Amino acid sequence: MIDLHTHSTASDGTLSPEALVELAAERGLSAIALTDHDTVAGVAPAQERGKALGVEVVPAVELGASLDGVGEIHLLGYFIDIKNKTLRDRLAWLRDERRSRGRKIVERLKDMGVSISVEQVEKIAKVGSVGRPHIARALVENGHVASMKEAFERYLKSTGPAYVKRELLNADEAIGLVREAGGVAVLAHPCTLGRKDRELPWVLQSLMAMGLEGIEVFYSQHTSEQVWQYEELAQRFGLLVTGGSDFHGANKPEIELGRGHTTMQVPAKMLASLRHTAEFRTASTERRHDNF
Ligand code: AMP
Ligand code: ZN
Ligand code: FE
Ligand code: FE
Repeated sequence: MIDLHTHSTASDGTLSPEALVELAAERGLSAIALTDHDTVAGVAPAQERGKALGVEVVPAVELGASLDGVGEIHLLGYFIDIKNKTLRDRLAWLRDERRSRGRKIVERLKDMGVSISVEQVEKIAKVGSVGRPHIARALVENGHVASMKEAFERYLKSTGPAYVKRELLNADEAIGLVREAGGVAVLAHPCTLGRKDRELPWVLQSLMAMGLEGIEVFYSQHTSEQVWQYEELAQRFGLLVTGGSDFHGANKPEIELGRGHTTMQVPAKMLASLRHTAEFRTASTERRHDNF
């Protein structure tokens, strides 16, 4: 089994890239993809540990993007070249934006009489991409709430009083970045489109016109009905099928690596199709360049 959606301390997970790979080995997973938000900083250390433990680590990233008429969606980029300069520059900009958005959230909380400091949040996030889970942790630390769940409920959820939107790429730019870095772009957790589920065929067609090549069919929160529905759509549109848990360690304690809410199983053969698609494109790009 494999898990193609995981987060480490490079973004808002609680296990270091190395510890994540160690847990994968313990769980008997043959491969994981490290899909941290807006960063590839964890990929090399995870791959290094993976080599020693016999766990393949797919270089990947998760990007928030906005799609006209739909709003925020998440895209996963697999088999990206983590040294690609255009991608790295854009990710660095997104992380800067995350930091300033984090400061704005801290300000809002302060205006409400809820005090946490920017330094505290930065200490929790370390060098990683700053996200709401880090702010939630600071709120717990200072005793403003009893749990991260309560932090989101009272302050940080998208309709909460301290919520600040973060900068998103347009979907076509996000997909373009992934493809330019030699990667395969996949729509993450289609369940989160919520009531817009009925619009999914249209959403997929729009994204495919921008270069989308896959859909995350298996996911911790997907019901078996949703898995059937998304599998059928994948077949209808000729999209790759992927799956992963969205493991975040203690920041989402209900999600288990490789198993989601205990029933998710992602077969290793999914990785082969993903790899073929990425390799085929790299090979054809090289051929094109050879012709000049
Ligand atoms: P951000 O990227 O800063 O917008 O934060 C998104 C992260 O916060 C994701 O990892 C989500 O899983 C987590 N998150 C979002 N909403 C909630 C919520 N209501 N309860 C717990 N975690 C949440
Ligand atoms: Zn996350
Ligand atoms: Fe996501
Ligand atoms: Fe995720």
